[in-house]
Amino acid sequence: MGEVCNTTCCNASNTSNTGNTKRTDYISWDEYFMSVAVLSSLRSKDPNTRVGACIVNADRKIVGTGYNGFPIGCSDDDLPWGREGDHLDTKYPYVCHAELNAILNSISRDLRGCTLYVVMFPCNECAKAIIQSGIKEVVYMENKYPESDSVKASLRMLTQAGVAIRHFAKDEVLEIHI
Ligand SMILES: [Zn+2]
Repeated sequence: MGEVCNTTCCNASNTSNTGNTKRTDYISWDEYFMSVAVLSSLRSKDPNTRVGACIVNADRKIVGTGYNGFPIGCSDDDLPWGREGDHLDTKYPYVCHAELNAILNSISRDLRGCTLYVVMFPCNECAKAIIQSGIKEVVYMENKYPESDSVKASLRMLTQAGVAIRHFAKDEVLEIHI
């Protein structure tokens, strides 16, 4: 038996490894990238909806992340975050969704063949950007509004364009303890 380390950091990740073999309880790629999407969502200032996205290329490198927020230079304090009332007094005409931000903020202009991890199923507007950018797979965690026209149109377009869609269960996502 090797020396037993009683610190929390060692015991939390590996309780029986003596240090000579690799850990076996490491997280999967899906867990890793979806966790990055979830972490990105925590940057959002939206009081009602937090969505994060993470784009990964064929080499499993992260090439873009995003969360829902207003465009660069547009004040988080001046523009409205509400959902009801006159259209111009709601967030809807101003907010940029996580998926679109991840695409526009990407370090690569060429996203062909990439996979997009996202907390919520993409809306129809983001679906257009996903398709046009060449992303080939969408991995989502929640689909809160499957009966909405937006999600129906999104699903229709993504399917027709040959973008693979995969559900990733929420309970598979790493619980982040900092
Ligand atoms: Zn969207």
